[in-house]
Amino acid sequence: MTSSNKRQERVALVTGASRGIGAASALRLAAQGYSIAVNFARSKPDAEAIVKQIIANGGRAVAIQADVSEEGAGEDLVRETDSRLGPPLVVVNNAGVQRSRAMIKQTPDEFDQMLDTNVRGAWSVTRAALPHMYDAGWGRVVFISSVLGATGGPGDSGYGASKGALLAMSKSLAFEVSRRGITSNAVLPGTILTDIVGDVDPAVLEANIAAIAARRGGEPKEVAAVVAFLCSEDASYVSGAEIAVHGGGWVTLPPSK
Ligand code: NAP
Repeated sequence: MTSSNKRQERVALVTGASRGIGAASALRLAAQGYSIAVNFARSKPDAEAIVKQIIANGGRAVAIQADVSEEGAGEDLVRETDSRLGPPLVVVNNAGVQRSRAMIKQTPDEFDQMLDTNVRGAWSVTRAALPHMYDAGWGRVVFISSVLGATGGPGDSGYGASKGALLAMSKSLAFEVSRRGITSNAVLPGTILTDIVGDVDPAVLEANIAAIAARRGGEPKEVAAVVAFLCSEDASYVSGAEIAVHGGGWVTLPPSK
């Protein structure tokens, strides 16, 4: 093993790790030596495939089902992670849903689903893991927000509000925990080519990508690399930060939805 993948004897809990950015982050953190709790809500076979891949690469991982939007899910998820792997000292709050629709058409159920999963879920998982980090005097919390949390976007009043809330949550937590060796940071992906953008009208997606400075969508592993940095020793003095992973951002405004 090289120093970069030497086993850390530390456990990372990645929510929504069955695919996309979460799966890429789980694989990357496993390569960095963490034991991984691969959380999923519905996609059990996908989560088990990620676990198999980590184990095949010499790592340690388990798949744990939990819908983070549900009452008590954060506590249950952290308890099960602790009993099967050990206390999670790294939490990557990645699980998220996006229901883009103009506010005038958005349903209360869609709005609640985004807020419950993206905001309450992240809060409850982090809150449940914090006592372990306090005990260890070390911890890493990463919130997967979105550029839309900073800029807003057409059709994303609800989603943007949920992702903006994560930016405030991350910075507030940084004030509380940084003196304890625990960091809290937010990652703001732009357009990353995962299932979540599968619902976007292909013509709209193509136009959006044409307006990105890099002229392409990002890959999940390009976000995972930033997550891995924030979870590393190298990032020990990075807390309360926001890192955009968006290929240079918009060069023109995205078209209206
Ligand atoms: P994705 O491919 O759709 O994956 C979403 C993941 O979240 C899946 O593993 C899904 O698991 C899980 N999930 C959804 N609801 C959950 C719940 N209630 N409890 C637990 N897990 C849940 O999406 P992605 O693009 O990788 O997105 C990951 C994160 O990045 C999200 O927070 C998203 O908002 C954010 N983001 C993505 C982009 C982008 O362009 N892709 C841009 C900015 C921010 P199940 O299938 O088991 O439900």
